[in-house]
Amino acid sequence: MSFADLGLSPAILKAIEEQGYTQPSPIQQQAIPAVLTGQDVMAAAQTGTGKTAGFTLPILEKLSGGERARPNQVRALIVTPTRELAAQVGDNVRAYAEHLPLTSAVVFGGVKINPQMMRMRRGADVLVATPGRLLDLYQQKAVRFQQLEMLVLDEADRMLDMGFIHDIKKLLAILPKERQNLLFSATFSDDIRELAKKLTNDPVEISVTPANSTAKKVEQWIHPVDKKQKPRLLKQLINDHDWQQVLVFCKTKHGANRLTRYLEENGITAAAIHGNKSQGARTRALAEFKSGDIRILVATDIAARGIDIDQLPQVVNFDLPNVAEDYVHRIGRTGRAGASGEAISLVAADEVKELSQVENLIGKLLKRDYVPGFEPVHEVPQTTLRSKAKKPKKPKKPKSPGHQDGQKAVSQHHQRANKNTASKPRQQRSGQGPQSKEGGSAKPARRPRRRPAQA
Ligand code: AMP
Repeated sequence: MSFADLGLSPAILKAIEEQGYTQPSPIQQQAIPAVLTGQDVMAAAQTGTGKTAGFTLPILEKLSGGERARPNQVRALIVTPTRELAAQVGDNVRAYAEHLPLTSAVVFGGVKINPQMMRMRRGADVLVATPGRLLDLYQQKAVRFQQLEMLVLDEADRMLDMGFIHDIKKLLAILPKERQNLLFSATFSDDIRELAKKLTNDPVEISVTPANSTAKKVEQWIHPVDKKQKPRLLKQLINDHDWQQVLVFCKTKHGANRLTRYLEENGITAAAIHGNKSQGARTRALAEFKSGDIRILVATDIAARGIDIDQLPQVVNFDLPNVAEDYVHRIGRTGRAGASGEAISLVAADEVKELSQVENLIGKLLKRDYVPGFEPVHEVPQTTLRSKAKKPKKPKKPKSPGHQDGQKAVSQHHQRANKNTASKPRQQRSGQGPQSKEGGSAKPARRPRRRPAQA
């Protein structure tokens, strides 16, 4: 199937070609025709599946027909949980609309509101916004919705996690009732289904990844290690494997700062992104990471959510997340668009609960890989899957001798990498679109609410 088969016009096809996409990804093949028919859509798709183009392309196609946005008016509204995601979606909208006479704008919190108010005077056919700032702009009468035709909630699960439900409800009360609604979410929890009921009308349901699955081509394992040894182990892994571009996740902002300082002191270029950093600092860190000026980006979950860094070879969980589903989001940053990736977690004994939650969520036990010299004094207790999943009882094909799930194995990744220390060239995007996913069978635990940290 080609993009032309999906009913997109030449101006959009040209922009797609300029992006180098040759084939629509599975989510695009399903979402684009559904959106074009005008139906409401509920789609389960993670970052990395091509979901942004899945909703942006048909929105632009539909908007290119009608009357342009009048001053302060918006015709399609895309709401995202984080500033980074808003900026990226905005970039995509601009790129795909390159040959169309449509305007777009991006608004988010953490920066001055005045320039955004000025910008909105001209109206925007597409507005990408985070919830808090959008409501501020509405209250200041800088944004109006009389012309609104379409609403997208992107990464709706994350929006709920971040406590944006009240903002979303306020927004829904303001918007014209007659509109097309698109809801994109990595997972479909009960909360999301409840939101979907309020938001959508007889939606087409699309799913390209079973909820809470992890990318098939991502190889995952843990290095059991004592907490105090984690920085030294990370330094050794980076040096031994000659990792050039690694996203490292920490649980706290403070921890991210401390680790960044440690790496820098040890001659490894690194920067931290988290909620306490200014928007400018975050954008700069991301740009330096993408350009290769810094090797290690140390991030907290909220800051990292949605950042578009293609095909990272490795993602490291310096700490396991408190919320198991964040593990799936984190490792979604590697092995994207057909490239394979590695997700490595440094796990201390006191993280056994988090480990078990992650394993139950993804429906399998993670391989344990002991790095010589870093064998923990405090062993990480053995974990099991809850009986419902019944997976551990199934005989599993060992990938390599001595490296079976949940068993002690001496550092094979370590040895393998030492044989081949030069960093692998990054794979080019295949044009295949994003890869298929494997199923995870365990039901997700309900996540605790978090306070909104952004927007
Ligand atoms: P998303 O899931 O929207 O975050 O997209 C993930 C990445 O895939 C982005 O870098 C897109 O530019 C890229 N992408 C989107 N659609 C395609 C496609 N059809 N072929 C190849 N890459 C794509």
